Amino acid sequence: MGQRKFYGGGKFTLARSPYGGLGLYAAVPFSRGEMVIEYTGERITNEEADRRGGKYLFEIDNRWTIDGKDRGNLARYINHSCRPNCEADVVDDRICIFALRDIEPGEELTYDYGEEYLNDPDTMPRGCHCDACDPEGFARTLRRLGRGENRVIV
Ligand SMILES: [Zn+2]
Repeated sequence: MGQRKFYGGGKFTLARSPYGGLGLYAAVPFSRGEMVIEYTGERITNEEADRRGGKYLFEIDNRWTIDGKDRGNLARYINHSCRPNCEADVVDDRICIFALRDIEPGEELTYDYGEEYLNDPDTMPRGCHCDACDPEGFARTLRRLGRGENRVIV
């Protein structure tokens, strides 16, 4: 199966995120319930996923996983929040990210990675620092980073 490049069609920006690293931001409005983006990548078995490891594995069901490590998969830049504005859902074997509410341009996109992520000692060594779990720390980092700086439209 060939690798598919994904381009955002100008609907997103990539920028530093208060969640750490880069984040994916809306560049256009999205309506509640609208599909925002697909989480794309190589389709591999869950056994292969266990063997490979990595941060960008997204399990579809009890057999298949998407390895979304390819940079063309813009959805891999979506950070975790316990109070997210998006949710991931598997539709026809594809991982689709939907807006949970109306989203304005400039908002960072987030979804809940789930319990496995929060309990993983590798990804969460210091507990969750999202806007819901640590609002003060989050607001501090947001002030430090500034809004809308060094953004790249994708
Ligand atoms: Zn949290």
